[in-house]
Amino acid sequence: MTEIQQNVAILGSTGSIGENTLAVMRRHAHRWRVFALAANSSVAALLRQCIEFKPRYAVLRDTAAAADLQQQIRSQGLPTEVLAGEEGLVSVAAHSEVDAVMAAIVGSAGLESTLAAVHAGKKVLLANKESLVMAGRQFMQAVRAADATLLPIDSEHNAIFQCMPGAYQAGGFPAEVQRIILTASGGPFRHTPLPELQHMSVEQAVAHPNWQMGRKISVDSATMMNKGLELIEACWLFNAKPVDIDIVLHPQSIIHSLVQYVDGSVLAQLGNPDMRTPIAHGLAWPDRVNAGVEPLDLIAIGQLDFEVPDYARFPCLALAREAATAGGASAVILNAANEIAVQAFLSEQIKFTAIAAVIEHALAYTESYELETLEVVKQQDQTARRVAIEHAAALAL
Ligand code: NAD
Ligand code: MG
Repeated sequence: MTEIQQNVAILGSTGSIGENTLAVMRRHAHRWRVFALAANSSVAALLRQCIEFKPRYAVLRDTAAAADLQQQIRSQGLPTEVLAGEEGLVSVAAHSEVDAVMAAIVGSAGLESTLAAVHAGKKVLLANKESLVMAGRQFMQAVRAADATLLPIDSEHNAIFQCMPGAYQAGGFPAEVQRIILTASGGPFRHTPLPELQHMSVEQAVAHPNWQMGRKISVDSATMMNKGLELIEACWLFNAKPVDIDIVLHPQSIIHSLVQYVDGSVLAQLGNPDMRTPIAHGLAWPDRVNAGVEPLDLIAIGQLDFEVPDYARFPCLALAREAATAGGASAVILNAANEIAVQAFLSEQIKFTAIAAVIEHALAYTESYELETLEVVKQQDQTARRVAIEHAAALAL
């Protein structure tokens, strides 16, 4: 092999995206070296990964868990150095020997380390959509200032990127594009009778029909807030306005998104619902490598269906579209309140249908700031969290 091996840091390595990233890298060890692995507190899972991949660094945000990991790494005689805390995450994300960073921490917890990778001018594989939703302006400014390479891993955005790559590099919404069409599966509750939605359990909400994902994004898919966050994510990535983007339900999750051009051409990217495809695309870009994904069998699939999303069934999607259109602080408030509400639902504090109620309340009652700096973005996030926590408590079961 002639290519130079690249060093990769995986932030959120023990999660669904992290494990899928390692599955792709495992097939191409000559191309990519696992340089750093990072997670929140899961000692056993990170130790298992360290035993297999022998990274230079392993990071746990939780300092007690990091101390535990350190002891186990030592007793196994592994060459890995253990780091702890947010500083540990940031230092591997920006490490001078790292070529590419997979940003796959869930939620706003990924903001600091993802931005550190951007500021260091890395090739950033972005799964952590929440950091872009929160701090889109500062994030995209940093991408340009540091000349970082930003590659979308979210399957829809990766599909759009594949259907309009030149436009992305030019940094403007291209005149030849009429609109972007984001597809959405509709999640597990697409047909649930509306009065029953309030009784949906955590297990029902996280049982996605097509994708195996972490719990937070699975709930986001059940409420369709995931598509709302993706709408905002697409606006930042592709210099689009919310009106440039349509959302279409496509229950089979085979078409991952589409781009419609002025001449009537519509380009789509298709594939089995398997995150190893966008991950392999991002890792290898502009090349292509075998991701280990089953070939698409169109005959077995038989048909592809499309529907209009029902905003009464999915009030979170309506709230996200309003926040996207309003701009400014709204997206930060939306994202913060959603994280609080989803956590409250996952811990069985509130009903499924209360998630939208908490977000709506936070959007209406959080004082909003001018988001001139990242510091103000973080303050806005904290203020919205306080409002959302209070309202979740008021709606507690
Ligand atoms: P997950 O819950 O399976 O994994 C989350 C990872 O982040 C774990 O490794 C966990 O240890 C780590 N983590 C959590 N909190 C942390 C903290 N405070 N500090 C450091 N690490 C922390 O989540 P996932 O499904 O892999 O999703 C990760 C991100 O990718 C999310 O932003 C999600 O929206 C996005 N995404 C996921 C999918 C998917 O198929 N899973 C698809 C598109 C986008
Ligand atoms: Mg997606």
